[in-house]
Amino acid sequence: MCPIDDGVIKYDRSQYKVSPSLNADEYRALEKWREKLHHLKLIGEYLPEKIGYGNLSQKADYQEFHETKKVQFLITGTQTGSHQQLDGSNYTRVLDSDFDRWAVNVLGPVEASSEALTHASIYQANEKINCVFHIHDNIIWEAMIENSYTSTPADIPYGTKAMADSVKSCVGSSKQGLIVMKGHQDGVISYAPTLDQAGSLLLGVYNKFPR
Ligand SMILES: [Zn+2]
Repeated sequence: MCPIDDGVIKYDRSQYKVSPSLNADEYRALEKWREKLHHLKLIGEYLPEKIGYGNLSQKADYQEFHETKKVQFLITGTQTGSHQQLDGSNYTRVLDSDFDRWAVNVLGPVEASSEALTHASIYQANEKINCVFHIHDNIIWEAMIENSYTSTPADIPYGTKAMADSVKSCVGSSKQGLIVMKGHQDGVISYAPTLDQAGSLLLGVYNKFPR
């Protein structure tokens, strides 16, 4: 079996509604960081499997589309990893999430990243968290495990409720930090109040561990 199971959406997506492409104002700030991380290959595509990896999100207010007390956020669409740059057709909106039903309510031109509920779970942990970046990199992943960074257990695969619960407990009450996902090959998460903080955390480990 291929150890890379990114890209397979495991949550209930029956509430997905298609909308026109997003305006640049909605995703410009997040796209700046995505471009940087893609350039470093922290977001990209595994070949020859052609499985995209890496997804970014930023908290947003979408009450005009759907009223909820739950977190709402902008996120990169599923299977967009191969694109050097994204446009309004590659970003989408998570309007609501339901951990009991394992369901996501999405409105946008593309379905949300398969890791949307992991993002939602991190936002739930601390309301000061506004950005969640999930990247893949073998060097950073191995070095973080080696150096005992905060981690999710090796027997918890991505995209599952167990992963959402596990990242939430990794976050605890902190508002920014890094998590290495031992059960998700090459998977690392940063979260922070601002995009620059979330990005800098990743650049920090990228530069710290030589390649
Ligand atoms: Zn991943």
